[in-house]
Amino acid sequence: MHMQSQEVTALLLKAQKIAKEVIAPKVDSSDEEIRWPEEAIRTLQKEGFGGLVVPTLYGGSGCGVLTLAKVCEILGQECASTAICFGMHCVGSSVIAANPTEAQQTNFLTPICNGEHITTLSLSEAGTGSSFYLPQTDMKAITDDEYCINGSKTFVTNGQHADSYVVSVVTNTTDAPVGLFSCAIVSSDSEGVAWGAEWDGMGMRGNSSRTMDLHDVRVPKSNLLGRQGDQIWYMFNVVMPYFLMAMAGTYLGIASRALEEAKKHLSRRYHTHTGSSLAQNSVLQHRLGSLWASFEAARQLTYHAAASFDAGEPDALIALMSAKVQVSDTVVNIVNEAMTLCGGIGYRKGSRLHMLLRDARAAPLMAPTSDVMRVWIGRALLGQPLLSD
Ligand SMILES: Cc1cc2nc3c(=O)[nH]c(=O)nc-3n(C[C@H](O)[C@H](O)[C@H](O)COP(=O)(O)OP(=O)(O)OC[C@H]3O[C@@H](n4cnc5c(N)ncnc54)[C@H](O)[C@@H]3O)c2cc1C
Repeated sequence: MHMQSQEVTALLLKAQKIAKEVIAPKVDSSDEEIRWPEEAIRTLQKEGFGGLVVPTLYGGSGCGVLTLAKVCEILGQECASTAICFGMHCVGSSVIAANPTEAQQTNFLTPICNGEHITTLSLSEAGTGSSFYLPQTDMKAITDDEYCINGSKTFVTNGQHADSYVVSVVTNTTDAPVGLFSCAIVSSDSEGVAWGAEWDGMGMRGNSSRTMDLHDVRVPKSNLLGRQGDQIWYMFNVVMPYFLMAMAGTYLGIASRALEEAKKHLSRRYHTHTGSSLAQNSVLQHRLGSLWASFEAARQLTYHAAASFDAGEPDALIALMSAKVQVSDTVVNIVNEAMTLCGGIGYRKGSRLHMLLRDARAAPLMAPTSDVMRVWIGRALLGQPLLSD
């Protein structure tokens, strides 16, 4: 059951308050010191956002991907790293909540909804890169009650700060059919988990995306999500929609902040020789107007796609993929152009646009990458199988 619209409005207002009061003051230090946004995430948990996308049946707020996108947009206006860390927690929790056993409800969903547990998604691997649906991490049954996992995951957002990881695995590394992987929950305190170097990216510097090595990691069989190997359903009905909308929301937040920076600069910047502000220049008015139109088009496509998915419409996936692609192109262009509008002040190190440009640049290359999405949109339109290579 989804929330009533007035409840969603109250939740979004609460997210705005947290963004302004807790997240905004910390954004510069998170970027400069490459710090995971601890205070922001803890506040979101304390204020009831932990179970945002977990169904009410399991103690969550029962929100769909439209609300997820809007919350990430609000957080992303102040700090993109916080938005993506929170977004990945929501994607992980949506996968756990899709078809949970009683033990999974007790061990994971209840603490997630109580704001005591952060989870995240560990799909990407160095070997298969942007083909995130082709894990090579191996999982074997070793006793009646336990599996053993071996492999390595890259770019795990929330890194060592999460309490659990939704890890994609294959049970037969040589013969696994394309896309037929399973997901299992690995607890952070499992023996055999080791972490690679600290994240030191060009942008998204607080997101703590790190390599996670799994060496003979034992997990209880009760941590397997769904039935072994039936994950195509998970991928297209849970992972992709939540992943795409968490990302689209985050990057819309960056774009909207860049537009605000440009508006502020144009309004405040006066030239002595004209005695007027840049806001009165028609070329700059035109440029800002064009950027706004492209932002609003990407935002409305995102909202439409998310609402279509929440309503169970059959073509929702095409819209969701298109929204991620559109937002990724748009955010890079908007921040880039906003920097031109802000002149030398925007270009200086330490300006907000400097950070926004670095953060925005991750949008097209984060899986599901824009190029892969474009191919899949084409395949869907042509009635061809999406995973045909
Ligand atoms: C900030 C950040 C956070 C991340 N967080 C997570 C996370 O929490 N969990 C997680 O699992 N992963 C995460 N990732 C991983 C991310 O999704 C990967 O960067 C992504 O999978 C790309 O993999 P790669 O770098 O190996 O690219 P490559 O596979 O080397 O691809 C390079 C380029 O080639 C293109 N390309 C490759 N194959 C094709 C094809 N068949 N058709 C068209 N184009 C193609 C790609 O689109 C890409 O542009 C994160 C990454 C970043 C940067």
